[in-house]
Amino acid sequence: MNSLALPPLPTDPHECLIQGCDRPWEVAVDPFLVAPRTWYVGNNWVGAYLLESSDGLILIDTTMQPQVYLVFESIRKLGFHPEQLKLILISHMHYDHLGGVRPLVEATGAKVMMSREDWAFLQDRPDQLLNMGRPFGSFTPDAFYNDNRPVVLGDRSIRTMLTPGHTPGTTSFFFDSANDQGDPVLCGMHGGVGVITLTDEWLGEHDLPVEWRQDYLDAMLKLREMPVDITLGSHPAQVRMMDRVRDIAPGHNPFVDAAVWPKLIDGRIAMIRDIMAGTK
Ligand SMILES: [Zn+2]
Repeated sequence: MNSLALPPLPTDPHECLIQGCDRPWEVAVDPFLVAPRTWYVGNNWVGAYLLESSDGLILIDTTMQPQVYLVFESIRKLGFHPEQLKLILISHMHYDHLGGVRPLVEATGAKVMMSREDWAFLQDRPDQLLNMGRPFGSFTPDAFYNDNRPVVLGDRSIRTMLTPGHTPGTTSFFFDSANDQGDPVLCGMHGGVGVITLTDEWLGEHDLPVEWRQDYLDAMLKLREMPVDITLGSHPAQVRMMDRVRDIAPGHNPFVDAAVWPKLIDGRIAMIRDIMAGTK
């Protein structure tokens, strides 16, 4: 379904999670190209990306278990078969990003990678999965990220960067791509920029360390330096991806825009500084 025909999303992320799990058809969107051999296969609320390599498909994030059938359907609509999925990369341990791992692994046998830090945190604090009672199938990662060694499948190579704060092991992804003229550009996906887990209320209520705020700020300052031309949102609304979809035209990729990344990161730096200053 075209995203323009969908009902508006609730403003509260908890309501979005409930809607997306209980009525996934209300967030279903058709897959679309965001970079050469790279597609958006998430839904109207939470992102997921499919990369084609010479040795099969890579999926970055999985959306949630009740809506993972939409990911399968997107893979099919793009002309692939789920059996081609070889590797699943997880951005962070919240349900909206890894809730679909188990059914995808069961159907495809794909290997799963995530950060060692978020795997440990998920074991230690399963309450922080934040699945609000929705179904979750457990899984075990096949490997952990090493930021000094890119994740490689066939001819695709993805650089990981540990960017903690939103969770202890939030991981961002970077990979080479091309613009409409065929010039090399960098694709970047931040692993999770939500500051909701960093407010006084949240940290207190969930018994989490206040040091996460400094981790978040340090990570954002590091991310700020990345020369990203194509920004992939872990949630599409963070970089208005569903608005940009309507500008897709032959020979024109509206997601190539070097202004988006610094704007996103600067906005988040301002938000965390406000929280740290006690003004939010
Ligand atoms: Zn999250």
